[in-house]
Amino acid sequence: MNMILLNPGPVNVSERVRQALLRPDICHRESEFTDLLGRIQHKLLAAFVPGAESDYVAVLLTGSGTAAVESAVMSCLPMAKRMLVLNNGVYGERLSSMVGLHRLGVSELKSEWHIKPDPERVRLALRQHPEVHAVSMVHHETTTGLINPVKEIAEVVDSLNRVFVLDSVSGLAGEPIDIAGSHIYMVAGTAGKCIQGFPGVSFVLLRKGFLERMRNYPKRSWYLNLTHYIDDQGKGIVPFTPAVQIYYAFEEALSELLEEGVANRFQRYKRAAVRIRERMATLGVTTLLPSDSLSNTITAFHLPPGISYATLHDQLKARGYVIYAGQGQLESKIFRIANMGALTELQIDGFLGAFEEVVTGAVARA
Ligand SMILES: *Cc1c(COP(=O)(O)O)cnc(C)c1O
Repeated sequence: MNMILLNPGPVNVSERVRQALLRPDICHRESEFTDLLGRIQHKLLAAFVPGAESDYVAVLLTGSGTAAVESAVMSCLPMAKRMLVLNNGVYGERLSSMVGLHRLGVSELKSEWHIKPDPERVRLALRQHPEVHAVSMVHHETTTGLINPVKEIAEVVDSLNRVFVLDSVSGLAGEPIDIAGSHIYMVAGTAGKCIQGFPGVSFVLLRKGFLERMRNYPKRSWYLNLTHYIDDQGKGIVPFTPAVQIYYAFEEALSELLEEGVANRFQRYKRAAVRIRERMATLGVTTLLPSDSLSNTITAFHLPPGISYATLHDQLKARGYVIYAGQGQLESKIFRIANMGALTELQIDGFLGAFEEVVTGAVARA
C-alpha cells in the first residue's frame, strides 16, 4: 500500500523524481558526475540565494540532514572559541549536544518550546561574552512547528561581528528566508524535506568571505570537514563516494522546485496547512502554538480527549496515512501533521476525512 506521509521527512515524492533514480550507473570520478554536481549546485544557489549566487558556495554531502548540520557546526569555530546555541526545541538541543560532544565550547540561551528567542537577549549575551565566535539556531523547529525570527537574530549576530549558523533542514523551500540579505554565513539543508527529494543527500550553503577564514580553523572530522569538500568540488569531484542515484533525484526535485517557483511552493504548503488547521478546528482539535508562530509545513495539535496517540496513529495508518508523534516533554500530549511533499489537495482532504472518521468513532465509543 502506498502511504501518504504526514511526517516531516521523508516525504512523498513525485513520479518524476522517483523515475530519476533509474538513470544510468556512473562513476563519481567521471565527467558525468562532475556535470551533475555542478547542475545541483547551480540550482541550489538559484533557489536559495537568488541574485547573490556568486557570494555563496553549495557543499553537497552524502548523509541525512544531520550530516550537514554537524559539518557546519564543526567547521565554524577557531581554537578556544565558543558557540552560543539558541535552544527552543529538540533540534536546538541537538545543536548543543553536537558542539558539546566535540569538546568545543558551548553556551546556551534556552527558551521554552513555544517561545521564540529574544534578539535583545542575544545582543546582551554577545556583548558579555567575547569568547563566543558563532551563534547557531534552528529556523523551523520541527518539534513544535515554530518559526524562529531568523532575520532579527541574524541582524544582531552580524552587527556584533559573529558568525551565524542556521539549521534550516526543515525550513528551506517551506518558509521564506533571505539568506544573502541577512548575511547568514552557513545554512544547512536536506533533499528529503520541503525540496521533495529523497533522504540521503544534504548540503551547506556557505558564504564565500567566511570560507577563507574557515580554512585556518582546526579540522575536527574526516568525513564532515567542509573545506575538504569545497577544495575537491572546486575540481569537480567529491572526496567520498556519493549516493549517485539520490543525487539524480535531487537534481530533478530542484528542477521541479524552480519550475514551480520557490515562493509558489511556500504558498502551496501554506494553503495545505491552513486547510488542515481549519478542518481540525471544526472538530475541536486545537493547535499547540498561537497562529503567529506557525510554520507552513508542520502543525502540532493537542491530542483530542479520549484517544491515545497510538490508537490515532494505528487507525490512520490502517487507512493509509502516517502521522507523527510528539517528542520529549510533548510526547504524550500532542501529535504532529506535516504537509511537506508532493501531496495534492485531494490527498489532504482524504486524510482529513479519515481523521474525522477515526476521532468521531472514538468519541462515540467512549
Ligand atoms: C529533520 C531535521 C534534522 C535532521 O535531519 P535528518 O535528515 O533526520 O538527519 C535537523 N534539523 C531539523 C530542524 C530537522 O527538522
